[in-house]
Amino acid sequence: MCKISRRELLISSTAALTAAAINTKTAAKPVTPVQETGKVDKVAEDIYFHQGNLAVGHCNNGWIVFEDYVLVIDANYPSGAQEIIPKIKAITDKPIRFTFDTHHHGDHAYGNQIWVENGATPVAHTGVIDEMKKYETGYYSSKPGRFEEDAKRRKDVAASKLKPPSLLFPKELIFDDGKHRVELVHLGVAHTHGDALAWLPKEKILFTGDACVNGPYNSVADGNVEKWVATLELARKLGAQIVCPGHGARSTDALLADQQAFFKALRDSVGKLVNAKKTAQQVKDAVTQLSAELKTNQQIARYVGGFFFTAQVEKVFTEMTGQKFPQAQKISKDARHLHSHAHGLPLIVG
Ligand SMILES: [Zn+2]
Repeated sequence: MCKISRRELLISSTAALTAAAINTKTAAKPVTPVQETGKVDKVAEDIYFHQGNLAVGHCNNGWIVFEDYVLVIDANYPSGAQEIIPKIKAITDKPIRFTFDTHHHGDHAYGNQIWVENGATPVAHTGVIDEMKKYETGYYSSKPGRFEEDAKRRKDVAASKLKPPSLLFPKELIFDDGKHRVELVHLGVAHTHGDALAWLPKEKILFTGDACVNGPYNSVADGNVEKWVATLELARKLGAQIVCPGHGARSTDALLADQQAFFKALRDSVGKLVNAKKTAQQVKDAVTQLSAELKTNQQIARYVGGFFFTAQVEKVFTEMTGQKFPQAQKISKDARHLHSHAHGLPLIVG
């Protein structure tokens, strides 16, 4: 049985993140520039990136100062929003009018209420609402959903409320004041079924949300790895020169290639076992070996291992065979919790 206490998870999560950090420094190819958590990073004129503190579960943020207003990328958790708002206000007195949720997860969307209280309207692809209806049953019906679960463990969530995005787009939404242009685009299923990215064609900057991360932060529970590879292919075709991920340091277009290469390698490795007619138990037993093999690939080493790895292998195996690992339900529940938890928080659905 996969019975792990919350304390054990806290300890092992910290260890996993530390191991990932060490791995990033020693095994992976250099990713430049390396950003510091919590620092306002001016990427280009009027365009900013902010690397969230994983220890408190925060995602990365971006913001674009238009002629008349500010568009923020990702609502973050309520505490993340509260951290970012003064930093934006220190740069501009333009009103923060829009907050774009790249997807429905708590660390990207539960801060919506805070932004609304500060005058902004949450914006998202229609798939975000579809996902919220699926998982946020506490809001849409009487049964507790992920927000309520999160509120048990996070004071900032407990002190706020779920505010689904109310400005929705089915495929894309464009902000263009002549000086700056931001295209919010849904390219397909990736980390979730509702991911959208923010593409700045003039500056060739791409904000990806968790469709692309820089480190071992890929939660695959709500997405589809095979489709994710195809979606990343479309993202690569945009021609970005700077890529701002949902978690981890910002980088160049190589980051999209690395993220995609990780999923391709994972699918190749699991695919070999499937072709060899290995059982679910045998594939599960091979997880450690798979991790060691994939870590030898310098391009993708920083994505391999940690809490999500078993769930990633299982997800790919399930996509290929329709089968789950033994005790799969418990594993995937843990993996979902660990999405946020691996960002440093007590068990939260991410
Ligand atoms: Zn996230």
